Amino acid sequence: MTDGFQAPKGTYDLLPPDSRLALAVRAAMIDAARSAGYEYIETPVFEDTELFARGVGESTDVTKEMYTFDDRGGRSITLRPEGTAAVVRSVLEHGLARGQLPVKLYYSGPFFRYERPQAGRYRHFWQVGAEALGTEDPAVDAELIVLATDAYRALGLTQVRLLLNSLGCRECRPAYRAALQDYLRGVDLDRQTRQRVEANPLRVLDDKRPEIQALLADAPLVTDHLCAACKAFHEEVRRLLTDAGVEFVDEPRLVRGLDYYTRTLFEFVHTGLGAQSAIGGGGRYDGLSEMIGGPPLPSVGWALGVDRTVLAMRAESVEPPSAARVEVFAVPLGEDARRTAFRLVTELRRAGLGADLAYGQRGLKGAMKAADRSGARYALILGDRDLAAGVAQLKDLTTGDQEPVALDGLVATMKEKLQ
Ligand code: AMP
Repeated sequence: MTDGFQAPKGTYDLLPPDSRLALAVRAAMIDAARSAGYEYIETPVFEDTELFARGVGESTDVTKEMYTFDDRGGRSITLRPEGTAAVVRSVLEHGLARGQLPVKLYYSGPFFRYERPQAGRYRHFWQVGAEALGTEDPAVDAELIVLATDAYRALGLTQVRLLLNSLGCRECRPAYRAALQDYLRGVDLDRQTRQRVEANPLRVLDDKRPEIQALLADAPLVTDHLCAACKAFHEEVRRLLTDAGVEFVDEPRLVRGLDYYTRTLFEFVHTGLGAQSAIGGGGRYDGLSEMIGGPPLPSVGWALGVDRTVLAMRAESVEPPSAARVEVFAVPLGEDARRTAFRLVTELRRAGLGADLAYGQRGLKGAMKAADRSGARYALILGDRDLAAGVAQLKDLTTGDQEPVALDGLVATMKEKLQ
């Protein structure tokens, strides 16, 4: 195509059959959250820029990648790059945390980051997220991790690895940060990385370049610097996961792109994907509410990437679930038959059966091909002579058997046959 429009850079159209996979992925993640009492929340796709500036952190990659613009009223607006800051904003704004705690919420929707596009990394992508706000109980951290693990399992994925870490709290993290900074100041780094050491030394641990990773071999580990409370908390999360049969890998160098995390931090990676192997992640963010002007509200959550989970399913050749099931496909032959077919198909659908019909002036051959392609179990063929006799021909598309069925009581007949 030379003249027409194309989807913007870093975006793509979700078409069948991948669209089916994406829906199945979202449904599995949502089901997992709902099974544990998480309720749906929807917040705007854009927010005041300041919310993310404060909530996501000034020097993070995510802040650098934001879609920020002034609206016509001169307000600085940002397309949401992640979901947690907005959920916390909403919970504070509406006083949801004044009632029973924790407040458990889930969301599903598009997010926007101005990233360099590549396989698995887009400027518009979809996340399902879950947040439990207002509790410091390590069982909630474990619950969320178990739910995500179960969602991946329900989708049939087997190559998912769970990486687990603790980032400490405001008591013990500063000492670790200083120790890491001390260490990093003593190694030979390029100018940009040295700046990072001063602004956000933990992010240096996330540098994927092998030469940097080599320099980090002897860097101090956060897990050696946890205070007694953080250590006990982390041990409890690990124990609950083990009891639940969830395997994890301790990854003391795990950090993530957002500044607000404290204590529990985790990431799900898929071994069948290339560079963009993180299919989901999350952690505890005990200080976020205060960062955006609220009271203390210790909380934990995850965001699972739908796009990458679809790629993971393709990498593992997991079959897409069958399409919205058409069970009966009507094939009208002639004008009267078309109206009757339309009425019958409507009745079948209203009775909860999947039904479709051959539209357009197609001959019998073309219409039967469409019936096959629909995946329907039965074709209902309506010719003028049959109609006059009050019947149609019902063809079983798996066996090829054909028999006349009465149009009177067709819904009941088909329900019985499709049981
Ligand atoms: P984050 O909000 O960065 O913790 O990301 C959570 C999950 O969202 C990641 O594990 C990815 O699966 C997915 N994700 C984040 N950024 C992108 C992107 N640019 N394109 C596709 N998926 C993404």
